[in-house]
Amino acid sequence: MLKNVRTVINMDKTGRIKLPSGIMEALDIKVGDYLELIIQEGIIKLQKISQGCAVCGQVHNLHYHKNNLVCINCLWDINDSEY
Ligand SMILES: [Zn+2]
Repeated sequence: MLKNVRTVINMDKTGRIKLPSGIMEALDIKVGDYLELIIQEGIIKLQKISQGCAVCGQVHNLHYHKNNLVCINCLWDINDSEY
C-alpha cells in the first residue's frame, strides 16, 4: 500500500485533474469509481468510496447525513419523514 506519496499534477481548463495511473493501480481505483473529496485544514484529500448508501446501497450522488453516507433519493425520503 502506498503511504505518504507526494506528486505534482495539473488541472485542465475545465477543472479536471488526472490521477497518475500508478496511484490508481496501487489504490485499486478504476475509471467510473466514486471518490469522496475531503478538505481538512485547507488540504484536499480523495478517498475511494468503499460503501454505498446506508439505506439502499447505491454509490451515486452520496452525501453525509448524521455521519452516514446516504444517496440523494434516500436523503429526500429522510428529510420528508423528519419534517
Ligand atoms: Zn439510497
